Amino acid sequence: MEVKYIKAFGTQAAEAPLEQLNINRRKPTPNDVEIEILYCGVCHSDLHTARNEWHGTVYPCVPGHEIVGKIVSVGEHVTKFKAGDLAGVGCMVDSCQECEYCREDLEQYCINVATQTYNSPDKHLNTQTFGGYSESIVVDEKFVLRVPDNLDLAAVAPLLCAGITTYSPLKHWNVGPGQKVGVIGLGGLGHMAVKIAKAMGAEVIVFTTSPSKVEDAKRLGADAVVLSKDADKMQQYAGKLHFILDAVSAEHDINTYLNLLRVDGSLVLVGAPEQPLPIAAFSLIPARRSFSGSMIGGIAETQEMLDFCGKHNIVSDIEMISLQEINNAYDRLLKGDVKYRFVIDMASLKK
Ligand SMILES: [Zn+2]
Ligand SMILES: [Zn+2]
Repeated sequence: MEVKYIKAFGTQAAEAPLEQLNINRRKPTPNDVEIEILYCGVCHSDLHTARNEWHGTVYPCVPGHEIVGKIVSVGEHVTKFKAGDLAGVGCMVDSCQECEYCREDLEQYCINVATQTYNSPDKHLNTQTFGGYSESIVVDEKFVLRVPDNLDLAAVAPLLCAGITTYSPLKHWNVGPGQKVGVIGLGGLGHMAVKIAKAMGAEVIVFTTSPSKVEDAKRLGADAVVLSKDADKMQQYAGKLHFILDAVSAEHDINTYLNLLRVDGSLVLVGAPEQPLPIAAFSLIPARRSFSGSMIGGIAETQEMLDFCGKHNIVSDIEMISLQEINNAYDRLLKGDVKYRFVIDMASLKK
């Protein structure tokens, strides 16, 4: 298969910093779209993978799965896109297309495992896939998203992971008007959950450990903010919430939050704490509560989310960085020192 060498930023080992390197991309096949990457969001998964914290990282590793850019060429069978269109690519670039979940537009749960945008076996080349910290990417049109043209393009990038990761459970559990929805943790995921749940018509209550985030949560649209250490305030919400989205990846007492749910309420994990969470049976049984998890969203749902964000003028709050600042950005990410997503200006790769 013909390939094209392009510039990228990545790492050669778990302990090594990210630096400029060259990778190859396939020349577009008849079903492919070739995208010049303009912006790429920085997700915590990028850091976990670059540093092999989830094990199984193949080097060199080029992270990045919050990709937006402009289409430079399309294959002869492509019908949805043309050169010059804006486009987005999220966490997946392919899947088996045949299993029961792929047929139900749930490619993220593909039985044969969807091809992740980076660090997955590439079906076309004899390498791993390389992500969006790069000049361009070539993707089957089925996994390319249309980007609304009324939004700030750089701030759209984080919608491709943080946006869909929060939109999908809010949609699946039918969040809407007349409901009280809790969001635990105000970071990259949490701040998107607040904006999206609000736009869906729910009353949104943010739970945070940081007094410094109270004003910000309100600015983002929260109707109320509760400091989770304030036991009296927590008690006011006992049995009151219809739904809770838990975006915390640090250790925390899940039972305290389950007790805030009404009968038939659901708490859904999108954050991923390293250690198992102990759940008391009586946090669930007396009110028929559910405890679940959710992972990104399918391609059709991701398109629906982008269209929803276009209609409601929703983007991520971002801090723009150059690729040369990425190692420092990772250090800041570990301290939670970002409001609320770093986005790389890919023009910096041309420096
Ligand atoms: Zn991500
Ligand atoms: Zn499948």
